[in-house]
Amino acid sequence: MKIIDRLREDSIHISFEVFPPKTDEGFDKVIAAVDAMAGLNPAFISVTYGAGGGTSKNTAKIASHIKDDLHLLSLAHLTCASSTKEEVRRVIGDLKAHGIENILALRGDIPAGMAFPDADRFRYASELVEEIRKHGDFCIGAACYPEGHVENEHKEDDIRYLKQKVDCGVDFLTTQMFFDNDIHYNFLYRIREAGITVPVLPGIMPITSATQMKRSQELSGTVFPRRFLAMLDRFGGSPAAMKQAGIAYATDQIIDLLANGVKNIHIYTMNKPDVAAAIMGNLSEIIKA
Ligand code: FAD
Repeated sequence: MKIIDRLREDSIHISFEVFPPKTDEGFDKVIAAVDAMAGLNPAFISVTYGAGGGTSKNTAKIASHIKDDLHLLSLAHLTCASSTKEEVRRVIGDLKAHGIENILALRGDIPAGMAFPDADRFRYASELVEEIRKHGDFCIGAACYPEGHVENEHKEDDIRYLKQKVDCGVDFLTTQMFFDNDIHYNFLYRIREAGITVPVLPGIMPITSATQMKRSQELSGTVFPRRFLAMLDRFGGSPAAMKQAGIAYATDQIIDLLANGVKNIHIYTMNKPDVAAAIMGNLSEIIKA
């Protein structure tokens, strides 16, 4: 089944994300985390590609496990900046051979020191979307950035390029993490005005430690609101308290989104089934209402 068909259903959908192991020895641990998350009945589970230090070769394997053994929808991420066009075509063929129907098409970050652009690589995610479309009937998702992508000085450029990307054949968008919902509502208003009509899944990152907050800020350039910083200041020194506060903060963001009519939400669960379970527990009655 395609994720876009699930998103079009008139009900609430909460999806999760996992990243592949850094080494082959870590594979079973990731599978155990995925299996535990499956019990929480997510709308789908996405598997990153080479992000978070994980290797890309296990993405298809984990996405297949989610689909074939756990009978859930899976979304395989695919990046193109660090691979040649030929390598990317081979991975698309591999995903097709595994029967994976849903791909999140990304450019990926440009590896330090690499000469980019280069004729042998796709330059933007939009080119990857066009390439995937040539290979079959995939449901294609892509990334978007409520606070603007770090490489763009002007938000208008970001939205113009996003519209071009969506017009290449994107079925849905997932946002970069944000910690102030007003930024998301404002972004939604601006992209709808620009004629982008596909479903947008807000990406919610539960921050459960001070280290994770620092890493998230480096990766995304996101702005942390005063309320979040006060929480970190007060509880950052106590891992258990910070974890509980981070789960409560993410829950609060999700409840506000649901209260404002958002139906599809993606949680960056980051191989942490306990965090996913705590948030889903907090929402148990809310998602039924
Ligand atoms: P693009 O859409 O290609 O945009 C990249 C930049 O180019 C933007 O600044 C954009 O505005 C600009 N641009 C686009 N088109 C044009 C044009 N025609 N002319 C000029 N400028 C243009 N990274 C991983 O390595 N693995 C993952 O699994 C992964 N998953 C992610 C999931 C989500 C939901 C998000 C939000 C990010 C993810 N990332 C992942 C990070 C992502 O790869 C980086 O943010 C990357 O820098 C941009 O990827 P993109 O697909 O958004 O690129």
